[in-house]
Amino acid sequence: MTTYDYDYLLLGGGSGGVSSAKRAAINYGKKVCVVEANRWGGTCVNVGCVPKKIMFLAASMRETLVHECPQYGFGTPDATFDWAAMKKKRDAYIVRLNKIYESGLDKNDNVDIFEGWGSFVDAHTIEIKLKDGTTKTVTADKIVVATGGKPMVPPGEGVAEHCITSDGFFELESLPSKVVVVGAGYIAVELAGVLHALGSETHLVVRKQKALREFDPDIADMLDAEYTKAGITIHRNTNGVAKIELGDGGKKKVTMQNDEVIEGADIVLMAPGRVPITEGLGLEKAGVKLKEGKGYLEVDEFQNTSVDNIYALGDVCGKVELTPMAIAAGRRLSDRLFGGDAYEKARASYENVPTVVFSHPPIGGCGMTEPQAVAKYGEDNIKVYKSRFANLFYGIYDVADPNDKPKTFMKVICAGENELVVGMHVIGMGADEMMQGFGVAMKMGCTKADLDSCVAIHPTASEELVTMG
Ligand code: FAD
Ligand code: NDP
Repeated sequence: MTTYDYDYLLLGGGSGGVSSAKRAAINYGKKVCVVEANRWGGTCVNVGCVPKKIMFLAASMRETLVHECPQYGFGTPDATFDWAAMKKKRDAYIVRLNKIYESGLDKNDNVDIFEGWGSFVDAHTIEIKLKDGTTKTVTADKIVVATGGKPMVPPGEGVAEHCITSDGFFELESLPSKVVVVGAGYIAVELAGVLHALGSETHLVVRKQKALREFDPDIADMLDAEYTKAGITIHRNTNGVAKIELGDGGKKKVTMQNDEVIEGADIVLMAPGRVPITEGLGLEKAGVKLKEGKGYLEVDEFQNTSVDNIYALGDVCGKVELTPMAIAAGRRLSDRLFGGDAYEKARASYENVPTVVFSHPPIGGCGMTEPQAVAKYGEDNIKVYKSRFANLFYGIYDVADPNDKPKTFMKVICAGENELVVGMHVIGMGADEMMQGFGVAMKMGCTKADLDSCVAIHPTASEELVTMG
């Protein structure tokens, strides 16, 4: 029998790689190796969820100071924001997290960690170009590709030279006065919201009519209306950016495919999607297949690649690009590979994954959009419950027209005679903290009657989800 240096080797020390490694080493006593080319914790910790959420919280705080404190009798507090001081604290927190991730692996006798770029020599052998310039070669019985993704920069004259991506956003040392954010997904919407709330003149450039086209249309429409009302300028039907030129004082002039022009931008932030990290991994030497298109790794529902002993998970597979999804896939894979008969069929479920867009206001959702439900069940077989209301928080607001108070919108999409809940979507204050529990209910197959049978918690916004119709 061939012997290997390790039972399990993971390429990538991000959300998926680390969770799978720990499960294999701690729960199943396997000899594990983790290779990380950059910083421990991956995208989420370094240039994703964590620094983004801190910026979202800072932006939400400024909104409270500027818009909410005066309405609640606090006068108008000083809302000057010291970006540089906050960034210093944010960076220090992330360094702490890097160490926690690293030591969480390293303190385990079963785990060896290496800092460097790993690539396949063959299906069981990985060469690591270590950060100190030396090279190490190791072998493993089973290998997981968990290398994540990176921001995509679209073609266009001067685009790559004069734009930043979300990675660059986290390096900014001060608040830009005027920003152009290009894209229509989570990142564009979240970062445009943060920059606007912190005081930047913000332009959102979308290719089509509006952002978040993949989301439920009612939610996308309301986000569009809220951003417009807040003062974000949305440039629609641009078909993307044609060129970026450098003007006086380093200001950028952005010309769009429809000839619209935005001048005087301090920053152009490109957020048109991400691409998987597969280049330079030597996948061809191991015989691992990629999918057509963006080149995601091809895996089945058990995270198996086209090669028997090689697996892949997380953003590099491009299925549901969320941290908890990568973690779930990593843990289930270790359970299946090392947990014995009880876990023979263990696999992560990609159905009904709750998700939040940290926009202003936030969006929470789980399951199908209305068009997806119509496509699957037919229009006659779905019933949609909707509610639109002003959160009690805004009850005492002095506004010329009471209809102008910020609104929350919710919808519950049900299918079939027993009204199985197949989609729930919320936009409004608190939506980000609302959907986790309802996600559990949906995983358990809840029906509208089950929602109705749950007594409301009053006065909250989420009670609306159990009192509709
Ligand atoms: P990663 O976390 O990217 O880890 C991959 C690791 O592999 C990286 O550390 C990389 O350096 C390393 N690597 C790559 N190639 C090699 C190699 N050859 N050798 C060794 N190491 C290698 N998700 C949420 O759930 N909630 C959020 O709020 C959220 N916000 C986000 C905000 C932004 C701006 C971005 C960009 C993403 C956000 N995400 C969020 C998505 C989330 O960060 C990813 O889904 C998650 O990090 C994917 O985990 P992963 O393990 O697949 O990859
Ligand atoms: P997304 O895939 O979410 O959205 C990118 C969108 O940009 C596309 O859908 C497209 O929309 C638009 N687009 C594509 N090409 C261009 C172009 N050339 N010019 C202008 N716009 C373009 O990508 P993101 O980078 O925003 O995020 C990547 C993933 O990371 C997300 O899907 C999500 O899984 C994860 N993430 C999760 C977060 C969270 O959980 N809160 C936060 C951030 C990221 P259209 O077709 O309408 O033009």
